[in-house]
Amino acid sequence: MTTERKFVEELIEQEDDFDRWYVEVVRKAELADDSPVRGTKVIRPYGFALWEHMQAELDRRIKETGVQNAYFPLFIPKSMFEREAEHIEGFAPEVAWVTRGGDKELEEPWAVRPTSEAIICPMFARWVQSYRDLPILINQWCSVVRWEERPRAFLRTLEFLWQEGHTVHATLEEAEERARLMLEVYRDFVETELALPVIPGQKTESEKFAGALRTYTIEAMMGGKHWALQSATSHNLGDHFGRVFEIQFLDAEGKRRYAFNTSWGLSHRTVGAMVMVHGDDRGLKLPPRVAPIQVVIVPIWRTDEERAKVEEAVERVRGLLRDSVRVHADLRDDKTPGWKFNDWDLKGVPVRLEIGPRDVAQEQVTLVRRDVLGQRQAVPVSGVGAAIAETLEDVQRSLFASAKRMLDEHTEDVTSYDRLKERVAANAGFSRAFWCGSAECEARVKAETRATIRCIPFDQPERIGACLVCGEAGRYRVIWARAY
Ligand code: AMP
Repeated sequence: MTTERKFVEELIEQEDDFDRWYVEVVRKAELADDSPVRGTKVIRPYGFALWEHMQAELDRRIKETGVQNAYFPLFIPKSMFEREAEHIEGFAPEVAWVTRGGDKELEEPWAVRPTSEAIICPMFARWVQSYRDLPILINQWCSVVRWEERPRAFLRTLEFLWQEGHTVHATLEEAEERARLMLEVYRDFVETELALPVIPGQKTESEKFAGALRTYTIEAMMGGKHWALQSATSHNLGDHFGRVFEIQFLDAEGKRRYAFNTSWGLSHRTVGAMVMVHGDDRGLKLPPRVAPIQVVIVPIWRTDEERAKVEEAVERVRGLLRDSVRVHADLRDDKTPGWKFNDWDLKGVPVRLEIGPRDVAQEQVTLVRRDVLGQRQAVPVSGVGAAIAETLEDVQRSLFASAKRMLDEHTEDVTSYDRLKERVAANAGFSRAFWCGSAECEARVKAETRATIRCIPFDQPERIGACLVCGEAGRYRVIWARAY
C-alpha cells in the first residue's frame, strides 16, 4: 500500500468562517460543484444519491395522504401568469422569461416556472365540474427557476429541485386542513429522516407566499451563526386562484361555487440544512436514514499475505450486511487507511468498520462512529448485523438530540428591544418575543437589525405580554432571527 498523503485536503474550521466552511465542505465532500453558469450548481452523484433517498421517503409519505404524482409544463405564458395579480407581483423580480423560440420572436413572453400555480390552476378549472370531482390532490417533482442574485449551493440557487403539491377543495376548512396536514408531513419527515428539529408556525402577512391567504412554515436553526433556514412551506391559497382561474363546481344543491386551493413545497435546500446543522470541522455528518452510504468498510494490511486474508473477511462482512444496509467496501489500493478514514469522515458516512489482520485473527471488526470522537468498539463478526442496526439508530437519535440541544441553548425569551439587537448582532440565535401584530413594528426591526419574524409558532403561551417594539398589547409570541 502506498504512503501517499495521509490526510485529505484540510477544511477551514467552522469557527474561523462558517460560510466558507459550508462552501468548502459541499465541494470537498463532492455533494455539488460550481458550474460554468452563474448562479447554478452541479449536483454530483454523492449529493444526488442523498437527494434521491430523501425524495423516495418524502414521496412515500406524500402518497400516503392520498396525493398522486403528475407533471406539468415548464413554461407559463405571460398572460396566464398575470391572472393572479398578487402572485405575479410577488414573483416578478425573480422570473426568467423566454422571448424567442428558434429564430422567431414569441407573440408573448413565456415565464420559466418559478412555481406552478398559474399553469396547474387552468387545468384544475378544466377537470373540476362537480363536488364529486373534489378534492384533487396532485404533486410534481421538478425543478423551478427563480432569478436569485446571491446564490449558495442547495440553499438558494437559480434553478432548484423540489416537489410542489397542489390541491383543490370544496371548502376553505378542507383547504386549511390540507395545508396544515402537509406542514405536519414535512415536520415529521425533516425531524425523523433528516434529524433536524424545527419550529412549525405561521408566516406573518409580510412574509407569506405571494397570493396566499396563509403560509405555514417549518424553521430550523443552522450551526455556526445560528441563523434560521425556512425548510419547507405550505400555503392555504383560499379561493383567490379559484376565482381568477375560474375553478368552479356545482355543489350538492346544484349551486355554482369557487373552489379552494393549497400548495406546498420542500426543496433541496434541506440538503444544505443537514450540512449546516450536523457538520463539524472534519466534514459532513449524514443522518443514517438518508445517507447514501451507511457503513463503509476499510481494510488494513501491510503484506500481500495479510491483504488476501483481510479482503476475504471484508467480503464476508459486506455479504452479511448487504441486504439490510447500504454498505461500501473501500478497496482502493492507492490510498492509505488513514487517508480513507479522513475521506469518509469528510463525506459524513455514519459508521466505519475497520478490518485488519488482528481483527481477522479474532473474528471481529472494529466499529467507529462518525458522530462520537475517538470511540472504537470491537464487534464479533457473528454479531455485526445487529450491532450495525442498533448503532445506526443510535446515530440518528443522537444527531437529532444534539441539534435540539443547539436549538434550545440558542433560543432566548427576550423582553427588551435592546436585548434583541444585542443578540442579533452577536449571532446568538433565535429570540422569542411578544409582538403586537403590526407591520410597522415588524418592518422597523427588520430595517434596524436585519432580523425577521421567522414564524408565529403554533405553540403559543397562555398569556401574551406587551410588544417588544412599541410596548402596546401583544398578540403573539414570535421568533426573531436572521435567515439564510
Ligand atoms: P415557496 O414556493 O416560496 O413557498 O418555496 C418553497 C420552499 O422552497 C421554501 O420553503 C424553501 O425552502 C425552498 N426555496 C425557495 N427558494 C429557493 C431557492 N432559490 N433555492 C432553494 N430552495 C428554495
